[in-house]
Amino acid sequence: MPSDSPGTVGSSLARFVRHTSLMRGLGFFAAAFGIASSLVDRGVSDWLLLVVGINAVAWPLLAWQLSETSTQPLRTTYRLLLVDTAIAGFWSAVTGFDLLPSAMLMAMMMMDRLIAGGWRLALRALAAMLAAALVGWSLAGFPFHPQTTFRTMLWCMPFFVLYPLAIGAVAWHLTERVRARKRELEQDSRVDPQTGLASRRQWQAQVIAEVRRYRRHGTVASLLMLDIDHFKRINDAEGHLAGDEVIRKVANCVLQGLRGGDSAGRFGGDEFGVLLPGTAREAALDLARRLGQAVRDCVFGAGQPVTLSIGVAEIGPGLDGFESWTGAADAALYRAKMAGRDCVRE
Ligand code: GH3
Ligand code: MG
Repeated sequence: MPSDSPGTVGSSLARFVRHTSLMRGLGFFAAAFGIASSLVDRGVSDWLLLVVGINAVAWPLLAWQLSETSTQPLRTTYRLLLVDTAIAGFWSAVTGFDLLPSAMLMAMMMMDRLIAGGWRLALRALAAMLAAALVGWSLAGFPFHPQTTFRTMLWCMPFFVLYPLAIGAVAWHLTERVRARKRELEQDSRVDPQTGLASRRQWQAQVIAEVRRYRRHGTVASLLMLDIDHFKRINDAEGHLAGDEVIRKVANCVLQGLRGGDSAGRFGGDEFGVLLPGTAREAALDLARRLGQAVRDCVFGAGQPVTLSIGVAEIGPGLDGFESWTGAADAALYRAKMAGRDCVRE
């Protein structure tokens, strides 16, 4: 449900306010024909019909103005929704609870309020409707004519054709937005926003899929674990933003050195993982050395070439689970750090 706060929520709030205003405009306009016809059946005076007409056009315009100019548009919109139901209750009572126009008003009010605010709003709306109905009924002298004439039935038809169509269109629009947002969220969880590499979760899923392939078909594959050497020094010397830029450049450099089926992921901080399906130990070691060289050649931080320590592990007996395989690559990375950094170990 939208809130009164700014940002992306703010735009969904603006959409909610706009939808509510449009539905109010359409609903009041379409319902006015049935109400007016019912009042004509009761032989009311012309000025009352004029009031129905003015109400149908002027109230939605006034409500639209109020919600657009309000400093608290959400709260105002909910209040206006309650006023709508009060108006509907009033007219229903004045028609003497003419069955079809009253059912029409009730359906319109409850559908909208349920969509906008669930049962809580719907029940509050019902209370407002009953209270206003009581006022309208006593002002009109307690009329009670539930029988609907055929003419009034016909005049209720514009509402019964138009309003469900509009509700359906709004509901479809909302569903589409929810679907699009879900796709965006799924995409966000798959990609590391800072580097554009696979997120840790996504990369892990790819490694697990590779492990399954190995267990089933015995296909060869290797893993690289890369960590930037003395990255803290870059952060300390040039600040975190420069550090971020170095991480991005390293990621880009690594990505450019990979083949189509390979997959690089951000493991966290300044550590990356690379999955190399179909690549055996020797080729993986070669690639690791080339990646180290490429980063050394093109990424600089704190006035020095940036270097990587890289651990390599080929999948195989005893290394045929996610933990054991990545653990082996991590242990090799640790050995590279221990060996003085800027090197590759297996
Ligand atoms: P080592 O050679 O042993 O790896 O030394 P190091 O300084 O690189 O140490 P380590 O890898 O343990 O620390 C990485 C640091 O990177 C720790 C953290 O403050 C910093 N860091 C982690 N994520 C980010 C990030 O997204 N941006 C920036 N600027 N710094 C980060
Ligand atoms: Mg590091």
